[in-house]
Amino acid sequence: MPDLAKIILRNHKIDAVKRFHPWIFSGAIKEMEGEVKEGAIVEVYSDRGEYLATGLYNPSNIAVKILSFQKVSDIAQLFLEKFQNAYQLRQQIGLVDNPKTNCYRLINAEGDGLPSLIVDWYNGTAVIQAYSLALYQRLDLIVDCLKTIYADNLRAVYDKSAAVLAKSAHISENKYLFGQKTGDEVLESGHRFIIDWEKGQKTGFFLDQRENRAILAQYCQNKRVLNTFSYSGGFSVYAMQAGAALVDSVDSSHGAIDLTEKNIALNNLSQVPHQSYSADVFNFLRDCQEDYDLIVLDPPAFAKSIQSRHQAVMAYKRLNHQAFQKIRPQGIIFTFSCSQVVNEEHFQGAVMAAAIESARPVRILARLSQPADHPTSIYHSEGSYLKGLVLAVD
Ligand code: SAH
Repeated sequence: MPDLAKIILRNHKIDAVKRFHPWIFSGAIKEMEGEVKEGAIVEVYSDRGEYLATGLYNPSNIAVKILSFQKVSDIAQLFLEKFQNAYQLRQQIGLVDNPKTNCYRLINAEGDGLPSLIVDWYNGTAVIQAYSLALYQRLDLIVDCLKTIYADNLRAVYDKSAAVLAKSAHISENKYLFGQKTGDEVLESGHRFIIDWEKGQKTGFFLDQRENRAILAQYCQNKRVLNTFSYSGGFSVYAMQAGAALVDSVDSSHGAIDLTEKNIALNNLSQVPHQSYSADVFNFLRDCQEDYDLIVLDPPAFAKSIQSRHQAVMAYKRLNHQAFQKIRPQGIIFTFSCSQVVNEEHFQGAVMAAAIESARPVRILARLSQPADHPTSIYHSEGSYLKGLVLAVD
């Protein structure tokens, strides 16, 4: 590789890198050699000249995201190896050539050694979200890696980075980088879903809830289920298929409610009463008359940054309190948080505060998190964003 720009760290800031944490904060930088442009590949050194890592530079609070702790001689080769490793892991956990599930996350950012990159696989279509210009500038490389791995199974690659990069990078267009839209239907644990990666949220589907949906199904027989923040109806479809007595779905987005209804129709579930409501969940829980045996609370991330963490914790408390007031005795609540800055302890604290206020006996039956195709590096606890509790409420 041509000579790379160098970043020298302050002496007392090298410990985090030695512990393989993949982020270097701007405050850790002592000096940069030459002009380092946004998106550049940089080598990181101690001020004694010891090589520490190679990463991608972004002029922000997290200035370098590390790709490798060993010298890199060929960046294209490094990307390909990471894609191959990621694919092998999905093979190992049984998600490749699986007759019941043909959608999964292929690249989970730091968890697959490619910070700021998400690639989700939807039965032949790969949907990319690059969260930094550095990755966005390397989309061609990413498409080459996908072609090598999937060969003829790859029908299309859709770049959806504009949705997450637009403001900082002035990128306004999501587009197909390879192929074109063909099928938009996937199977997840044998259930059929239409995925709208072009207009839907994130890459089109919340793949991170796959295993939690299956756990929910175990609790649903003959139950009256309320699925709040339903998006494309994942939990609703599983609940109906598992023999729920009725299911109601609530989401503030009309598009989400349309998707929920399409997905329910696709699975031939007309024998189970289902109502969908395009409404604010807080208002719905306050006003609804129905008694529910099981409530799912899967809100969007209430906190996007550490500054809004307190407010987020208060919102989780309020939401869970409303559910505790609503649920029937011997009821079950599946409650989630996907805010990265709200850790398990904060979240459980918020849920406990809500339980105290409702003065009902509440027990934890299970702790939930993200599935194996959303791996996290043991050195980067920030990657474990999804947490959930299954609660029995008497
Ligand atoms: N449970 C879903 C994912 C939920 S994503 C699944 O398994 O696929 C969060 C959803 O909450 C989004 O669809 C968003 O439209 C919806 N939402 C956000 N704020 C809301 C509110 N106050 N009331 C109702 N829905 C809301």
